[in-house]
Formats: sequence, structure tokens, C-alpha cells
Amino acid sequence: MVPAAIIATKRDGGAHSADEIESMIEGFVQEKVADYQMAAWAMAIVCRGMTSVETAALTAAMLASGTRLPRATDRPRVDKHSTGGLGDSPSIIMAPLLACFDLDVPMLSGRGLGITGGTLDKLEAFPGFRTNLTSQEISRQLESIGCVVTGTTADIAPADRRLYALRDVTGTVESVALITASIMSKKLAETLDALVLDVKHGSGAFMQKSSHARELASSLVAIGQQSNLQTRVLLTDMNQPLGRMVGNACEINEAIEILKGEGLTGRLAQVTLQLSSELLVLTGKANGPLDATTALKKEIASGRPLERLKQMIESQGGRFQDQLPTAAQRPLLAPSDGFIATIDGRCIGTAIIEIGGGRKIAGAPIDHSVGIEMCVELGDRVTAGQPLVHLFSPSGSGLDIASALALQSFTISREPPTVPPLFSTL
Ligand code: URA
Repeated sequence: MVPAAIIATKRDGGAHSADEIESMIEGFVQEKVADYQMAAWAMAIVCRGMTSVETAALTAAMLASGTRLPRATDRPRVDKHSTGGLGDSPSIIMAPLLACFDLDVPMLSGRGLGITGGTLDKLEAFPGFRTNLTSQEISRQLESIGCVVTGTTADIAPADRRLYALRDVTGTVESVALITASIMSKKLAETLDALVLDVKHGSGAFMQKSSHARELASSLVAIGQQSNLQTRVLLTDMNQPLGRMVGNACEINEAIEILKGEGLTGRLAQVTLQLSSELLVLTGKANGPLDATTALKKEIASGRPLERLKQMIESQGGRFQDQLPTAAQRPLLAPSDGFIATIDGRCIGTAIIEIGGGRKIAGAPIDHSVGIEMCVELGDRVTAGQPLVHLFSPSGSGLDIASALALQSFTISREPPTVPPLFSTL
């Protein structure tokens, strides 16, 4: 088939056959379809969309471009995926926690993208932690510890890796079909029994509008169902950071606090418990959500999940510490009395990038010790001079800009605002 003709079909709003989609993906992997043709096709898909049948064919073609992780044990295998946000660290808590329920958790995770943090970057705050495990190493660690968090191996959905890199630099990330195929091809390659998806919306998320997040959530669940993978989705609010901490080592420290049983009522713990309960119920490890939540809290209180995290970090070459070092702390103060009406996630995320906690160019090193502690939440009453955030940053380049951005992220109103609910239904 001729790539230019396929691109033109989508440009003009037509629908592709499964054969056309397969030929584009196969041709791309075999370098018979050029990067510029793939980028043009991706843009046509962004502008014209894909039907659910086309999205399923695209997911299948991306999955078929690589291999699947072999089964390592006969324990049920589960994973979670988040579409990304600020202070979004449930994965770090869930991997060891779920492994304590005799579940295998092979998390193939990613790095920070745009303003959102990445699980791999966060875990690399443990000195020496390796995120490039081979498929054999993943299997061995699942056998011995039951959980692993690493980067996608070279043979998992290679078409996605190359296409994603192109999308990142051609303004073609924001397409429900492309995001669905990208996420689900990698998850299906993990050979899972159950998957839970955390689809986020709001100022600190990819999808700002809840209607777009709903559309994405439905598309992800449909692919899971068609592939006989038990899939559940949560829609969660990202109009403020999920955790109290934003930034790599800071978020690890907060995750460890939760694994110690501290802060179990906060937003991060609520989302973590909800996502984990879904997986316990789906795999028959709990009879229902209440039973699951009780079991999860009891397990945390036993100290075993924290010990399992330590084992996982050490097994991947990292030096475990209960409390990772963070940079010097500076408070930023409320300029006036009132209520916290909005917290702009873009400003918080950009502030972290300015002080080196995220990347301005692909592959750049990051400073794990910088971050922001949120001292207030949406709807809180504040008085002038009260700290809104603590900025963890060395003095020097970026600090002034980051301080200004962090302060600019808040609006303070005279009247109490309506605070969006943390969870919403599909
Ligand atoms: N995460 C992915 O893995 N792929 C996308 O396309 C977007 C977010």
C-alpha cells in the first residue's frame, strides 16, 4: 500500500481498514514508512480522529510490532496506569503494596512528560536505582519479590516508542486514538489479568477538560474489554497536585510516609487505596471495595509493604533510604487573606522545571532534590503572610522565576470556591 494514499484518506476524513493501519505500522518499524510520513499521518489522525474499530486495529498493530512479557509465576498479574499529573505517585506505593497480596506487579513506567513527573525519574532519586531491566531480569524479580518498576524494554511495542518520540515534537500527542493505542499496546504487552487506569483532568493534567478525559477513559476501557483484559477506570481531579509533595525525592518521601501509615486520609492516599481496591476485587483477593480498603490499611500497618519497597529498590541496584535528601527549604507567603480559589498546575509544574526538577530538553539530567510542598489545598482559608508552599531549591538560577511562578499559580478569593470532587464517574 502507498503511505501517501493512506495519509490522504485520513486527511480527507476517511476511515482506514485494519490492513491499511497494519501496513503503516509495519512499514514504519521496518523503515519503509519515513518519519515525515508517520508524522503527517499522526497529524491527520489528531485532526480527523479515528473510529473505535480503527483505534482497536492501531492498538493491535502496535502490540504486534513487539513481544509480550512472559508469565513468570502463576500469581495473578496486575498493573495501573495514570495519564499523568502533578504529585502523582500512587505507583510507588501500589507496586510493593499489591505484591504483598500475592499479586505480580510488572510496572513498565515512563519519565516526566511536559509538566508532569515520571515514575522512573522519581525512583532514580534512590542512588544507583536501575530502570533498564531486561525481560529476563523482570521475570526473575517478579518471581522473587513480586513487583518491578522499570522502563519499557526494547522489544515491547517498539512502534509506540518511535511514534511517541515523533508525536512529542510534532504537536501530535493530544489524540484520543493515538493515546489509547500507545497506552494499551504497552499494557497488553505486559500479559496482565487486571488493569486499573487513572484518567486525570484539570489544570495539572494532559486533558484539561473532563469531557476529553471521559472520552479517553471510555476508549481505553473499550480496548481493554475487547482484549479480554479486566479493565477499570477512575476519573480523578488534577486541578491541584494530588500529593502534598511535587518533585522527585519529595514525592518518594511522601510515598514512604504513606507506606508507614501516615497521611492515609489525604488525596494521594485516597486515590492509591481506591485504585488498589479495584485490583484486589478484580483478582478475587477481596470481596468488595470495603473489604479491600480494610485489608489494604491492615497490610500497610504491618510494615510489610514498606519492607517490600526496600527489597525492590535494592534488587534494582538502588540504595534505599527512609528519607531522601531534599534541597534547602524556603516558604512562599500568601499575599492576602481569603480562600484558595484556584491552583494552576501548569505554573507549579513549570516552576519545578525552572529549578531543575524536570526537563527542558529530552534526555537532560534532573535534580532529584528540588520540589514543592503544598501547604494549602483548594478551598482552604488563608491569612496574609501564611506559607502557601515550601520551595525546595538551591539558590541560583531559576529560583526567582520558580518562586514567582509558584506564587502566580494561586488565586485567592474573598468567597469560598466550589472545590471539584476528587473522583467523578464515567
Ligand atoms: N502516555 C503514553 O504512554 N502514551 C501517550 O500517548 C500519552 C501518555
